[in-house]
Amino acid sequence: MKIRELCCHFILINLIFFINYQQSVAQGLPINPADEDPQRHVLIEPFRIVDNIYYVGATVNHSAYLLVSDAGHVLVDATYERLVPNIIQNIKKLGFNPRDIQVIVSNHAHPDHVEGLAEMREYTGATTVASALDAEVIESGGKLDFRVRQGDPWPWRPATIDRIIEDGEVIEVGDISLTAHITAGHTRGCTTWTTTAKEAGRQLDVVVMCAIRINTSMPLVNHPRYPTMPQDLAYSFARLKIMPVDIFLGPHGWIFGLQDKLERLKGNPAKNIFIDPLGFRNYVLGREREFLEIFREELY
Ligand SMILES: [Zn+2]
Repeated sequence: MKIRELCCHFILINLIFFINYQQSVAQGLPINPADEDPQRHVLIEPFRIVDNIYYVGATVNHSAYLLVSDAGHVLVDATYERLVPNIIQNIKKLGFNPRDIQVIVSNHAHPDHVEGLAEMREYTGATTVASALDAEVIESGGKLDFRVRQGDPWPWRPATIDRIIEDGEVIEVGDISLTAHITAGHTRGCTTWTTTAKEAGRQLDVVVMCAIRINTSMPLVNHPRYPTMPQDLAYSFARLKIMPVDIFLGPHGWIFGLQDKLERLKGNPAKNIFIDPLGFRNYVLGREREFLEIFREELY
């Protein structure tokens, strides 16, 4: 009896996974590996993406980027607190000094991007930068996250934000120039960062896209703590669809197929596999389709 129940349970879980997988494939969307998937937690060796931009870990799916210049560096995301030592180690492995980081920016105010921010700020002495609406969440340790219910424990250690950045504002460190684009919806101050890089005499547009996935565990329409979520998402999709992109990067490796790209890189090291405007476009269109379906379901 017990074995039969177990079998049913197993079949059901696989069926749910299969349906989810089919839906994602149908929408052309990459799969978000489950938290318990060991692949999600394998530490990664740091590597150069293009020009002065490096992937510094900490895992294939918890992404942090380092932009280097002679006058200091910029770090995009500190990820989880437990991964901060790995990121620091990876930066050293590349031959850079983590204490030369001048500025730390964040993708968005969720713990997998900012839980380690306070520790990284302390270690580097860098200036932390965020949009106003994400800054208040980061400084509250997640308590002001619209997803948090009353009585929930503090999701992470609060971090001080030294500088608030507006939409379209530029961070400059040496010859690094990083522009903030508020593409809200996943969080209220979600920030896509863009810069340019040079390769083989060509100038490339580099985008570290903010998460644009809908928080599916809650209503999209008339969310009591985030009533403008659909409007924000619609505007963000419009922004992303017209954004010039050559190098496609994002808040998690699975979003831009990092695992697969690293495999393909082994077979063809001469070609920069991260030049992927079509991958960016398909990802944005797939997420927009998902948004419109949920929006229609909730509205009509
Ligand atoms: Zn998130």
